[in-house]
Amino acid sequence: MERVVQQLEILTETDKEACEMPRISKEENRGNSRKMYIESYGCQMNFADSEIVTSILQEQGFDTTSDFNNADVIFLNTCAIRENAEQKVRNRLKHLTNVKKNRPGTLIGVLGCMAERLKSKFLEEERIVDMVVGPDAYRDLPRLVEEADGGQKAVNVFLSREETYADISPVRLNSNGVTAFISIMRGCDNMCSFCVVPFTRGRERSRDPHSIVAEARDLFAQGYRDVTLLGQNVDSYKWKASEESKETCNFAQLLEQVALVHPDLRVRFTTSHPKDFTDEVLHTMAKYENICKYIHLPAQSGNSRVLQLMNRTYDREWYLDRIAAIRRILGEECGISTDMIAGFCSETEEEHQDTLSLMEIVKYDYAYMFTYSERPNTPAAKKLADDIPYEVKNRRLSEIIDIQRKNSLERNKLDLGKIHKVLVEGTSKRSEDHLQGRTSANKVVVFPKKHYKKGDYVHVFVSDCNSATLLGEAID
Ligand code: SAM
Ligand code: SF4
Repeated sequence: MERVVQQLEILTETDKEACEMPRISKEENRGNSRKMYIESYGCQMNFADSEIVTSILQEQGFDTTSDFNNADVIFLNTCAIRENAEQKVRNRLKHLTNVKKNRPGTLIGVLGCMAERLKSKFLEEERIVDMVVGPDAYRDLPRLVEEADGGQKAVNVFLSREETYADISPVRLNSNGVTAFISIMRGCDNMCSFCVVPFTRGRERSRDPHSIVAEARDLFAQGYRDVTLLGQNVDSYKWKASEESKETCNFAQLLEQVALVHPDLRVRFTTSHPKDFTDEVLHTMAKYENICKYIHLPAQSGNSRVLQLMNRTYDREWYLDRIAAIRRILGEECGISTDMIAGFCSETEEEHQDTLSLMEIVKYDYAYMFTYSERPNTPAAKKLADDIPYEVKNRRLSEIIDIQRKNSLERNKLDLGKIHKVLVEGTSKRSEDHLQGRTSANKVVVFPKKHYKKGDYVHVFVSDCNSATLLGEAID
């Protein structure tokens, strides 16, 4: 077992890189005459959007390919959240110049947040791009492709107040056949001062709950066993049938409806915002075994002054009260993760220490950790100086990462000697003889295969762990 742990530790880094890798469409030949290739960067929302785009273009007679050299249309679905995310796309476009030289008819489309941020300026900056399409304009893709086919440059970056793509059935890309994302809302009405999302994804709007439940039912019928409800701030999900109607649905009610689809369908959700995160949601989670006991509750900082500058609209005490509510209602076993930003404008050493102390109090199971990256035109870029030197930001980030690594290990050790119900997602990346799945608390578990297979629920006795993975044996 010790060797397996060592191997896993080495490969954890690979996993981390894999998370930052773009997702690529798979090869699917339905006998259509044209092929599209789509490469998606950034968050799960973008991956879900690429599935909508694929569905729209499949209707127009496109098959998907995993090799851009064979594609008639190449799409990059982009992220603008940090500068390095945009840089990755620029580098990729350079790489694609040769494809265009070899096959001049190939169209290149830039989709998503970077397209929305730069609009037609993108066409001037990157000459090889034929189409620039924002996240609310995907229904217009057939027309835009036609326009680009005719030699025109095509742009649609219109942001909608209504578009939720509720009626479009996504084509699952890169699917393991067990886990899937369901988009429940779009946009964001918060104005966190560092964040570009409200500008690139527009106003918040919630999708019709009937279409969400129908999608979950459909996924279950196809063999999926784990769905993640996606939104930038799921706790502010609010749907009303019409202005006059009394039929409304909030997030806790939606969660319950999806949980009722089938007891064997696990339900997860992300992202929760501390200011809107209610006890009602926690009680709904407690009521249903199949609602996973895992909450991603980004703090961003542990210091109240910095949180105010970030315009997060809660302070350290409020955040800790929400953590206490999770522990009170769901107990110690509930997994909690966070996002943290190191070196936000004017952050002092003491304020950074508050972030570290918050992490010590909460003991997150997992964290996504970043250095602050100033984004053009955000409130912070307009009003605050990005004045923490690069080296200081990086040093603070590595202190945050060190604490998190220690806490992840500490939290994982609490699972030793216990039996966990694991949903198998596939073969372990390191060993054909091992399976890999997740617990309700979102912990990755690796165990010898025996007769089990993908999609099974297996009880696993956990006997070993590292900071990223639990290791054990299936109990028949
Ligand atoms: N809506 C979610 C929320 O409120 O937590 C997440 C949105 S964003 C896609 C994911 C994370 O990226 C944020 O939680 C934040 O930590 C990080 N982020 C956003 N803007 C950033 C910036 N300008 N620099 C560094 N990190 C940033
Ligand atoms: Fe960005 Fe804040 Fe909205 Fe999250 S809640 S998407 S961090 S503005």
